[in-house]
Amino acid sequence: MAKRILVTGGAGFLGSHLCERLLDEGHDVLCVDNYFTGTKRNLDALVGHPHFEVMRHDVTFPLYVEVDEIYNLACPASPVHYQHDPVQTTKTSVHGAINMLGLAKRTRAKIFQASTSEVYGDPQVHPQPESYQGNVNPIGPRACYDEGKRCAETLFFDYHRQLGVRIRVARIFNTYGPRMHPDDGRVVSNFVVQALRGDPITIYGDGKQTRSFCYVDDLIEGFVRLMAAPDEVTGPINLGNPGEFTIRELADKVIELTNSSSKIVRKPVPIDDPRQRQPDIRLAKKVLGWKPTVPLEKGLERTIAYFDRLLSTG
Ligand code: NAD
Ligand code: UDP
Ligand code: UDP
Repeated sequence: MAKRILVTGGAGFLGSHLCERLLDEGHDVLCVDNYFTGTKRNLDALVGHPHFEVMRHDVTFPLYVEVDEIYNLACPASPVHYQHDPVQTTKTSVHGAINMLGLAKRTRAKIFQASTSEVYGDPQVHPQPESYQGNVNPIGPRACYDEGKRCAETLFFDYHRQLGVRIRVARIFNTYGPRMHPDDGRVVSNFVVQALRGDPITIYGDGKQTRSFCYVDDLIEGFVRLMAAPDEVTGPINLGNPGEFTIRELADKVIELTNSSSKIVRKPVPIDDPRQRQPDIRLAKKVLGWKPTVPLEKGLERTIAYFDRLLSTG
């Protein structure tokens, strides 16, 4: 049955893929975004669709609409962007969560929160299961994002326990794919753009730190399955690809796939940069029957093709 679905942060990287998927399933989609990091260009293919509507709005302000489901994705996601105006980042996570939970309470909508592996901070348990409570520096430069997302989780669980709101909390691990912001400073977009331009590939630190990269289509499948799961499945639930690579391995792979002449250069490692990160996805496998299917090489090929087009059309 067609539902009325609100996607906050819908003009962003993940949000635009989610809007597309929900429209394909026949739903009415309302995309809300303040265009801080998202762009209308991400929605080019969707504008004009009879079931699609876009509204410029900042989630730190109340929003009164009638919906059946809410996906709350609004929040800058890359360190460069979330550290640009840290106070606004915390407000977006916290006030945004309060407003969207208030909306969910009033409309009795189900609400999904895009939480993050950053709630684990620089983890001392590896890989990270949902039960791990994390190692976050509350006053460091990443705290506006990490603590904002942690507080949003708190609000989700309190609205659930105290007020009966139906919640779904996903902890998303590094995800990549077409429509990532070319200047967001994240490692996949940086390396691909640098390789395509023949610029030096910037490795921060020794390049031995690890990350696990999930292709966007796999992640969106996880979102939709979590939303459709029975109400007792509140999460938090890890969504990510457990394949773990060092940053150096990623650089080598990107150079190989782009056939680039770029050389590798070393830059200082950012403060509080986690040394390793890998999701434990046993819960998602068990409860949602979900696991990623796109290998890094395939996903990188599609991402490289996207950035190649983007850079050549300007
Ligand atoms: P993105 O920056 O492309 O998308 C975020 C969107 O939210 C943008 O369109 C931005 O304009 C919008 N936005 C920001 N502040 C807003 C506000 N106050 N009101 C309305 N809209 C606002 O990032 P993304 O990678 O698509 O991330 C989407 C969500 O997923 C974020 O909540 C992020 O924290 C979470 N997440 C992403 C990843 C990842 O690897 N991509 C990992 C963990 C969590
Ligand atoms: N809110 C909203 N849309 C709604 C309902 C509520 O944006 O449809 C906002 C409202 O502005 C409030 C917040 O959500 O500040 C929290 O709502 P809740 O009902 O929990 O709190 P209260 O209104 O009692 O402060
Ligand atoms: N990184 C890097 N070069 C870059 C961008 C990032 O070596 O040009 C490293 C960064 O220090 C971190 C990893 O890649 O160890 C992932 O960084 P990103 O900002 O993409 O995500 P996050 O740290 O939030 O997982």
